[in-house]
Parts: sequence; structure tokens; C-alpha cells
Amino acid sequence: MKTITYQSTRGGESGVTASQAILKGIADDGGLFMPVEIPKLEQSMSELAKLSYQELAYEVMKLYLTDFTEEELKDCIRQAYDSKFDTEEIAPVVRVGSAYVLELFHGSTIAFKDMALSILPHLMTAAAKKNHVDHEIVILTATSGDTGKAALAGFADVPGTRIIVFYPKDGVSHIQQLQMVTQKGDNTAVVAIHGNFDDAQTGVKKIFADKEFEKKLDEGGFQLSSANSINIGRLIPQVVYYVHAYADLLARGDIEDGEKINFIVPTGNFGNILAGYFAKQMGVPIGKLICASNDNKVLYDFFTTGVYDKNREFVLTMSPSMDILVSSNLERLIYLSAGCDAKKTAKLMQELSETGRYTVTKEMQKRMKDFAAGYATEEQDAEVIRYLYKNRGYVMDPHTGVAAAVWKAHWAETGDRIKTVIVSTASPYKFSKDVLEAIQGPTMLTDDFAIAEELEQISCVPVPKAVTELKNAEIRHRTECDTADMEAVVAKILGIS
Ligand SMILES: *Cc1c(COP(=O)(O)O)cnc(C)c1O
Repeated sequence: MKTITYQSTRGGESGVTASQAILKGIADDGGLFMPVEIPKLEQSMSELAKLSYQELAYEVMKLYLTDFTEEELKDCIRQAYDSKFDTEEIAPVVRVGSAYVLELFHGSTIAFKDMALSILPHLMTAAAKKNHVDHEIVILTATSGDTGKAALAGFADVPGTRIIVFYPKDGVSHIQQLQMVTQKGDNTAVVAIHGNFDDAQTGVKKIFADKEFEKKLDEGGFQLSSANSINIGRLIPQVVYYVHAYADLLARGDIEDGEKINFIVPTGNFGNILAGYFAKQMGVPIGKLICASNDNKVLYDFFTTGVYDKNREFVLTMSPSMDILVSSNLERLIYLSAGCDAKKTAKLMQELSETGRYTVTKEMQKRMKDFAAGYATEEQDAEVIRYLYKNRGYVMDPHTGVAAAVWKAHWAETGDRIKTVIVSTASPYKFSKDVLEAIQGPTMLTDDFAIAEELEQISCVPVPKAVTELKNAEIRHRTECDTADMEAVVAKILGIS
């Protein structure tokens, strides 16, 4: 098999093995790791259609992670995609009216981040062994809610790892907070900081940049790593479900072999949809990848004008995981559409950090023609949630709602009748109140569990275990700190102060 190495989108590093890229997360020059080429699938879609999710995951991931042995990779896959998921299908495709919904929320935290974060810890520990890292790997994460819990669940009790998550004390929902502070696992720590998400993020970045602290960690037998969405160890497992969704529709006879389908993806950091682009480059017959934004429509503006401009008001919406003004994974598409020109990419990224904006050339825009874009307002989001419930009996979360609203508009405006898969990134039960109110109007209920039960009544989909088990779960994490003390708290948790 062909060896694939990784290089930085900004040109500072090349010849990096997959396992090294996973351990490092980000390149030394601040760039993102990219495979030197996107490999082609070795088997036809009709052959792949016979495989289970786990078998297919191996066929896709082995093409990228070429320094992992078959046994190592299969082991990682087996440990990740098991009974933590509430369905054997792992990522089922459900028919809803004239569209399909790819449900990526059947993992332990009922959101799509589980798809990658349930395997990343295993890839990391295998990578550490392979590179003779004998230190314990310490994952540090700042979270505005979803990522933190998914990372905690993924790393809990994985030997050779510790995970410390910082969240803004008053900046996450009650359910999100409960999810985190009740996290089990002897290697997990959760800390509420007195500040907002940006403060938490800045604090974590500071710890990563502190060379002296790194030395202290090293002496204590620890090494920092990050689980954020730019790690290729998160991107590559996400390619799998695009291939699987196509294979599944083919196996069911819903599409012909070779028939093109569209995917609509509710997008924030551009990781999920980029994985779809990789799948297309690998040979999956995909027509358009439609990028759906909420009111923070930086990406919609970018795809329609060629200008990326984050200088705008930040809007809080009911799809908080898409409230993002700098989509970090977009750098990889910029790099590809610049013809893998790292200099050009570095220059645009520098412009972004200095002025908050950049403009791509007409040529680059042309190379992005596989993408289309749309956005939905809060009203359109709520309206489509209500519409699909009333007319199709399907209840979706507000992130997925953004994609569904964009699909509805695309259907009406373009006459594009290509079969389309709406990528669903969260269970409606993760956002019960907004979903209930979209369907029924304002509710007097304030208790999250009562709201979930009410939603269960009308949706006839049982409240997932991930929510019900929170009700009586023991609170295990009570640490709080000021942002200035984050490093000291890490030292204390690791017992090296
Ligand atoms: C993270 C997340 C997204 C955005 O995914 P990206 O890969 O960052 O584009 C969308 N919906 C939900 C529920 C998420 O948790």
C-alpha cells in the first residue's frame, strides 16, 4: 500500500507520518496537516455496500493512516464503534419525505462529535506507542459545551491518557454542565472557570505555549496534546460516514450505482463538510456539498463572494455549535483550492489574523465549485422543525434544522432534484426546549427533564439514556478557578505542583 505522509498547509513541515500528525494536532508553523494526496477508494461502491460500519471504517482509514498496522487500526475501530452507540448501524440513514437524514447522534453524548472523539483517544494511544512516547498524554480542552463532553466520554478510562476540560461557569446550558460534572473515569477532570469561553480558550492556549511548564510536565512524565477539530485524527474518521451513507443507500436500492447524491451539512468549524469533500475526492459519487450556516453566515458570504470576513457582529443562536466566525478547517480547502500552494495559504491566513478578512482569486473560487452554500434565520429554523414534525412526524434538533431549511430553499429555488442527504449533527434531546418551542410555541416548563418528557410525548422517540441517566448521576467534579490560575490547577490535578 502507498505510504501517505502529511504536510503543513503553511509549508513549514512535511514528511510527517499519520501517527505523528495525530500526536501533534497542529503543525509547528501554525498550519494544519494535510495528506500529500487524497487516496482513492480501492473497492467499488457496490463492494463497499456489503460491509459493516466497522469494516468500512477500516477500508477508508487504512488509506490515510498508513503507518498503523492492520491490527492496530482494527483495534481502534473495534473499541470506538461498539455498544456506546445505541444502534448497531452506528450512523443510520433515515428517509424523511423526499430527503434523507444521516443521523450522527447515536453515540454516548448524542452529538456528531462522538463519531470522531470515540476513536481519537485510541488512535492517539496507538500513535504514542508507535512513536515510543512513554509519557502520559494529557488532553487539555476549553469548551463551550459539546466538545468538552464528547472528549471526556472518549478519553474516560483510556489507559495512558488524562483529560482536563475547562468550561465557562455560566456559559453552558444546565444539561451540558450536568453532562460534564457527572463524567466518570479516574483520568478525567472538569474545571469551571470564572470567565467566558474566550477566556477559557485563551488560558488553554497559554498553557500550551508555556515552555517552562512543558519542561515541568516532561519531568513529571506528562505530555500535552489537543483533541480539537483540526486534528487529522478527527477529520479522517468523519470521512467514513459519508462513504457509508452512500453505500447504505445503494445497498437498499434507493440509488443506482454511480448516481450522484448531495449532502447538506450544518457547518461551524468546517470539519464535518470537509470530510465529505474528502469522500468525494476518494471517488464517492457526490454532486454538491451544501454548506448550511445560521445567522453567523461568514461561510455563506465566503462561498457566494470569495471574501472571507469575520469583522461582523457575533450572533447567539439556538444552534450554538455553529456560532463561529473563524472556521478553522476551511484552511484546508483554501490550501487545496490554491493548488496546494502553502505560501499562498500562509499569506491568506496571515491576512485573516491581521485584518480579519481575505479574498480568494477567481481561479480558487472555481476550484471550490463542488460546494454550494445557504443559511437559515432563527425563524426559518424553527419553521422547518415544526413543518417536518407536522408533515413527516420527524423531530430534529436546531442544528439539523438549519440544514433542512437550507435544503427546502435549495429545492424550491434551483429545481435540483438530485437525491439529498441532510446531515444531522445532534439529537433533538440535546436541545429539548428550543425544539419543543419550535413545535408548540412557548412552554411554561423550566425543568430540563420535564421538557424532555414533554418532547417524548409528542415525538414518540424515547428520551435517550444520555439524558435520563443525568437525573440521578453523582456530581464528581466541583473544581472552580480564576482564569489566571488555570495552569496551577492543571499542575495540581496532575500532582506536579
Ligand atoms: C460541532 C457541531 C457542528 C459543526 O461541525 P463542524 O465540523 O465544526 O462544521 C454542528 N452541529 C453540532 C451539533 C455540533 O456539535
